[in-house]
Amino acid sequence: MSRFTTSRRGFFAGAGLAASSLVLPASTMATASAQEAEASDMPDQGLVRRIGLGGFTILTVSDGMRPGDGPHPTFGEDQDPEAVAELMAENFLPETRFVNGFTPTLIDTGNEVILFDTGMGANGRANGMGRLRGLLEQAGYAPDSIDTVVLTHLHPDHIGGLWEGEEPAFPEADYVIGQAEYDHWSAEGAENVMNAVGPLAERTRFIGDGEDVVSGITGMAAFGHTPGHMIFHIESDGERLALTADTANHYVASLQRPDWHVAFDADKEAAAQTRRQVFGMIAADRIPFIGYHMPFPALGYVEEFGDGFRYVPATYQFDV
Ligand SMILES: [Zn+2]
Repeated sequence: MSRFTTSRRGFFAGAGLAASSLVLPASTMATASAQEAEASDMPDQGLVRRIGLGGFTILTVSDGMRPGDGPHPTFGEDQDPEAVAELMAENFLPETRFVNGFTPTLIDTGNEVILFDTGMGANGRANGMGRLRGLLEQAGYAPDSIDTVVLTHLHPDHIGGLWEGEEPAFPEADYVIGQAEYDHWSAEGAENVMNAVGPLAERTRFIGDGEDVVSGITGMAAFGHTPGHMIFHIESDGERLALTADTANHYVASLQRPDWHVAFDADKEAAAQTRRQVFGMIAADRIPFIGYHMPFPALGYVEEFGDGFRYVPATYQFDV
């Protein structure tokens, strides 16, 4: 995990924010039309958020949202329900209802189109999920334009969209999976997982900590949520971003109380330690991150806050 700590070049220094575009003169007719022209240039974000990072184009795509009870006992499994309810209330959230979001990411490097995780796929469509493939196509990325599908880990909400019926959903793609993750599920003999990824093994490259997917996209071991869970460090033209996958899965509970146990985490203590380590580095480096279960567009920042972190959703940082 040395990349976060050794490379402190500062995200904003490299970003070249166009300060002049922020200075809009006020209250004349000419200004009004200038503002309108500028406003019409703003991307329609909808269910697909498109940002630039150096020479890369990055899309976060909402595969769907799932309301349900919670966050306790899924989050704060080892806590009293009242403690979780209190933290939710403090943060203006309902105490016993929770909406989970599912947000795969696409990175177009200019040479290659790389998709990270595949959402729920066809099985989710009855519940309004599984929208990834359709939304990507609308955004200009047809299924056969995807060169590589990276799986951060092998939970159903990440591998559900690998297949459309009997056919691979992204027919031209090769695959990248963490070696430790694949080995774990294959040793377990997990039928649902192996049915999805096993037939793709010949087209899969298995990576470990510090290995590149392509130049500028580096896998990092972030074990705990699953035994081989991987996150990715993205860098293009000196601009940096982290793809944290399922390191933190509730933007309040997992970040403000990183040590609280989470039912979905295979190894509760390792997951907590990984959360502190990963978000400690992201906070120290002040770089943006994309988290698969953060509220759409799943893009934001963290800063140290109390004994944990505070999530700061991205707004227009990438649009000006
Ligand atoms: Zn997940």
